[in-house]
Amino acid sequence: MAQVKHTYDTYAPPDIEFVRGEGARLFDNEGRDYLDCAAGIAVNSLGYAHPHLVETLKGQADGIWHLSNLYPIPAQKRLAERLCAATFADRVFFTNSGAEAMECAIKTARRYHYSNDAPERVKILTFEGAFHGRTLATIAAGGQEKYLEGFGEKTPGFISLPFGDEKALKAAVDGETAAILLEPIQGEGGIREFSGQFLRDLRELCDQEGILLIFDEVQTGIGRTGKLFAHQWFDVEPDIMASAKGLGGGFPVGACLAREEVAAPMVVGTHGSTFGGNPLAMAIGNAVLDVVLEDGFLDTVNAMATLFKQNLAEMVDTYPELLEDVRGNGLLMGMKAKVPNTDLIAAMREHGLLVAGAGDNVVRLVPPLIVNEEDVREVRNRMIAALNEVKNNLTQE
Ligand SMILES: *Cc1c(COP(=O)(O)O)cnc(C)c1O
Repeated sequence: MAQVKHTYDTYAPPDIEFVRGEGARLFDNEGRDYLDCAAGIAVNSLGYAHPHLVETLKGQADGIWHLSNLYPIPAQKRLAERLCAATFADRVFFTNSGAEAMECAIKTARRYHYSNDAPERVKILTFEGAFHGRTLATIAAGGQEKYLEGFGEKTPGFISLPFGDEKALKAAVDGETAAILLEPIQGEGGIREFSGQFLRDLRELCDQEGILLIFDEVQTGIGRTGKLFAHQWFDVEPDIMASAKGLGGGFPVGACLAREEVAAPMVVGTHGSTFGGNPLAMAIGNAVLDVVLEDGFLDTVNAMATLFKQNLAEMVDTYPELLEDVRGNGLLMGMKAKVPNTDLIAAMREHGLLVAGAGDNVVRLVPPLIVNEEDVREVRNRMIAALNEVKNNLTQE
């Protein structure tokens, strides 16, 4: 077969061809099955071929796929209503991705101050290890050199502070500060959690200083941690929040949520999106919420998370030469590795278990929220097989 490649080399995928998915499993063209604890990186919240999503998509195929936001979109109004009913928010702007939801969050924060006679308030304070997307503004917000290198001047207005450092934060706040931005749990950064106390302190600081609190819940939201949004575990609400990933269950849907007063300056003409919030995307977003908001769904997520956590803790105990700790909340989990995380990821894949990497040399597990006990057991078996192999290779060296 001719090997002419026409896509960018921005990814280096292994040589596997997935042809089918069902529940938490993927199947390749040789009939092998894989337990998928990467889930499109926390996107396939309801796994593969979920009957309600499939039915919704098929139903919408005969309807209107796309309408410009120049016309009313009833399913958009409904999804916004439901997201607001379940959160701090009063208003929603829909996007196609997490980075776009973040762009909207940043614009909303700045525009709020601009409309409140403080146009100088443009600076956004962030924490090292953050990840907010790959657009020019969101790589500046993330502040990670590896994503900024070679793309010209860093978009101004973002200040990256040491992780969880309240002193540095207080010193950095001044009359030009618009907002503090963070993921309640850093996903790409290595499943690093901010404490509830830290989040509450942030809220207090923001209230004192008249600055806005923005949560990036693109990865942590839509049931991932066992609450609809991770910050709901704590007694803290943001002013603005970005969501995406799990919200579309595999269809590109993002959302920026905000309080009424904060969203009010985003009037006609200040922002827009051609595709964001179109009827097809909204039908699927609503279908995901149908399932995630169902009575008992998140209870099961929490029960599965407890089983997972026990298993992962057992791995750390059994393989101290390979693993250092377990972290995360709900089904957003990580194990810090002592060998290159890429070695563990490859070994697990070879044993039919898909996991993702994350910063800080972490192996990240973000299975579909519909995993069941049997899946969790099978993940454990395959993980043990993979870790045994890596351990044996270590001792042979
Ligand atoms: C994935 C992610 C993004 C970016 O989302 P895209 O859909 O890839 O643009 C932003 N923030 C966080 C926390 C993420 O995990």
